[in-house]
Amino acid sequence: MDSRTNLLGLDPDGLVRWCEARGEKAFRARQLLRWIHQRGEAEFGAMTDLAKSLRARLEADAEVSPPSILRDHLSADGTRKWLFDVGQGNAVEAVFIPETARGTLCISTQAGCAVNCLFCSTGHQGFSRNLTAAEVVGQLWLANRLLAGSPTARIAGPAPSGVDDDDDAGASIVGRPVSNVVFMGMGEPLQNYAATLSALRLMLDDHAYGLSRRRVTVSTSGVVPMMDRLRDDCPVALAVSLHAPNDALRDRLVPLNRKYPLGELLAACHRYLERAPRDFITFEYVMLDGINDSDAHAIELIERVRGLPCKFNLIPFNPFPASGLVKSPPARVKQFAQRLIDAGIVTTVRKTRGDDIDAACGQLAGEVLDRTRVAERNARRVIEVAEVRS
Ligand code: SAH
Ligand code: SF4
Repeated sequence: MDSRTNLLGLDPDGLVRWCEARGEKAFRARQLLRWIHQRGEAEFGAMTDLAKSLRARLEADAEVSPPSILRDHLSADGTRKWLFDVGQGNAVEAVFIPETARGTLCISTQAGCAVNCLFCSTGHQGFSRNLTAAEVVGQLWLANRLLAGSPTARIAGPAPSGVDDDDDAGASIVGRPVSNVVFMGMGEPLQNYAATLSALRLMLDDHAYGLSRRRVTVSTSGVVPMMDRLRDDCPVALAVSLHAPNDALRDRLVPLNRKYPLGELLAACHRYLERAPRDFITFEYVMLDGINDSDAHAIELIERVRGLPCKFNLIPFNPFPASGLVKSPPARVKQFAQRLIDAGIVTTVRKTRGDDIDAACGQLAGEVLDRTRVAERNARRVIEVAEVRS
């Protein structure tokens, strides 16, 4: 087995420590960060401002090793999706969504997901394992490298897809294709906190990707204690997957709600806002026909979030065969959105991009070799869907 350290996954402090442990000064770590993350260099031999002896040492002790690409798909609208091999028969996905003034990369943090939301194909596959920091940040590293010079990286696209409003759009894009990152691919980032935090620190570091906190969004199903930790450790923009206006329904759609019910989740949102780089929380709400999309649900929702600065992003449900669920008709989504808008809540409906490659954000399937008993879980899911409907 290769005992070389994969420098891709070391955050700025970690890289300083790694250098110092080898008798190298801290500024060497900054040089390495720039070579690896800003210039996308994987070969130590090409890092010309490092002493030859150090380069030789790096070659012996270290590597820059991203996950390997299993598939690379480009859709007609410029959306590009990669399937990455993360070992043991598991694969995860990342999607790049080009828009006029920015390029958003949606990344994964886990192979599968243990939260097991009723409507989610990732959850449906069960949980296999956490990605390492190198695998998380490696998705960004590879996307920047593969998109550099690509005509699709900056094509004129439709207005923002509703991932989030970006009122500083057009600001410095630091010369790389990916200007925004959203943790909305496979997995629950706050259940893989250490790797997520290392990746975030690299994304924000001026010697690495130099993205502003507002341009990096973590999406969570509501892991309350970790929301507090993120607020203290590295407050970036936050999206919370709400999906229901009351505990009875949310318990069934997002099983984690049984542990952290809505009252606690919304209190954590208030606390997060004290340090957040944006002055609102984005709530995601998957529109499920006959389940959470009635006028009564909208009215209850408005009451529930009263006093909390927030925006809503309504997501058309992306059906998958075994879900047993149906997407809300467009007219229903429109009326639901109008209710929220009339109550003064900024509301967007997420546009579906990359339809032809099934690549819309939060709708990634990947291929996870289930380490849990999927048949049993799926049987349970059929019963749960029936219960939610009744
Ligand atoms: N685990 C995190 C982030 C990944 S999921 C979370 O749940 O927030 C990103 C978004 O995609 C979430 O809002 C999730 O609810 C949504 N999503 C999951 N499955 C979906 C589906 N089949 N159709 C539409 N949106 C879906
Ligand atoms: Fe996990 Fe998010 Fe899917 Fe829920 S929606 S199962 S938290 S990836």
